[in-house]
Parts: sequence; structure tokens; C-alpha cells
Amino acid sequence: MGLVIVLNKGRILAESLPLLAKCGIEPSENPNESRKLIFGTTTGEHQLIITRSADVPTYVEHGVADIGITGKDTILEYGSNLDFYELLDLHIGKCRMMTAGPVGVEEPEGVLRVASKFVNIARNYYHSRCRQVSLIKMSGAIEIAPMLGLADCIVDIVDTGNTLKANGLEARETICDISTRVIANRASMKTKYDAVEKFVADLRDVVQA
Ligand code: AMP
Repeated sequence: MGLVIVLNKGRILAESLPLLAKCGIEPSENPNESRKLIFGTTTGEHQLIITRSADVPTYVEHGVADIGITGKDTILEYGSNLDFYELLDLHIGKCRMMTAGPVGVEEPEGVLRVASKFVNIARNYYHSRCRQVSLIKMSGAIEIAPMLGLADCIVDIVDTGNTLKANGLEARETICDISTRVIANRASMKTKYDAVEKFVADLRDVVQA
């Protein structure tokens, strides 16, 4: 039975396509050279939808896609009452969700102004530490918020730390480790059980190899 698989553009798409190819699932056209958003696959069985990261859990939760491939950051930011299953860690797209602030500057007392694209993750983190925060939602270039006086610190994805360093920031606490995960729609786990099982088992074999 064919599966609809949604995955996000960019790094996750680039790193997931070779894994899917090893499972025999290849888009019928190169997604990087096409403006299409829905692709058939060479097996003729499955379909791939390519979208923005934040929409991957939405597609899976609403059953538009059976399977989603996205970062743990996207899953955590989506919410805590998740109506889908997380089935597999692909061990790619590894990075950390961290707090960061200007080098050598102590965090102020009282309400901390925190800029992030991941306001839900940031809110949960600071609440768990009983720290009062004022959250500033940004959609990019978060690293410049402290320099501009918009925030005292940021919550963002850190890989090498080079982006922080280039903007006069230092990493402080690690909130969680991030990697790319496979999620599945709850109904698809019943109605397409064999296909989902095979897909996940094949991918697990590829990841473990
Ligand atoms: P770096 O300078 O290597 O610490 O990379 C940090 C920047 O790259 C941040 O702005 C992140 O948004 C982005 N980034 C790094 N790794 C990932 C990843 N695995 N997934 C998504 N974004 C990432």
C-alpha cells in the first residue's frame, strides 16, 4: 500500500533522500531542480510532499500524510499533546537546542527577555526552571537580537557554534539534543500498518548499517 511521506526542505531533505534511496524510494524528479511540491516515486507506490518544517507535523497529525520526516526541534515546538507517533531517530541533522547570550555579560535579574524561533521550547525550558521570561518570537537572524538590544539572550539551534561566535554570543545551557525523526499518523498505523512497518524497518536497517 502506498504511503504519503512529508519531509521538510533544506538540510533534512538533503540528508534524508540518500537514506530513502537506499530503501528503494526515490522521487521521480529531483526536488532540488523542480518547483513541484508533490512528487511520485520511482516505485510508483509512495508519494513525497516537500514543505516547510513547521508544516510537517500538521500534515501528519491531520492525516494528509502517513509519515513525516522532520527535526526533533520542530516536533517539540509543535506542542505537547501530540496526536501522532514518533517511530524512529534517523541520527542525522544532529545539533543542540541551546540558550546563548553576549560573551561575558551576566544575565539580568528579574524578567529575562528571550528571543527565539522556538518560543514554546523556550517557554517550557524557563518555566521548568521557574525563571520568568518575556518571549520575543522571531523567524530568523535570532543571533542579532541581543546586539540590537531586543533581547537579553536567545534560544536557538547550535551545531558548530560558529554562528554564535560570529555574532558575539556564547553558548550557555543545552536544552536538548536534536536529530531528525520519523513520525506517523495514528490512523495510518492501523489502516496501513504493514506498509508503515516495512517503511520504518527498512529505514532502521539503513540507519543501523
Ligand atoms: P552553527 O554555526 O554550526 O552552530 O550553526 C547554527 C546555525 O545553523 C543556526 O542558525 C541553525 O539555525 C542552523 N543549524 C545548524 N544545524 C542545524 C540542524 N541540524 N537543523 C537545522 N538548523 C541547523
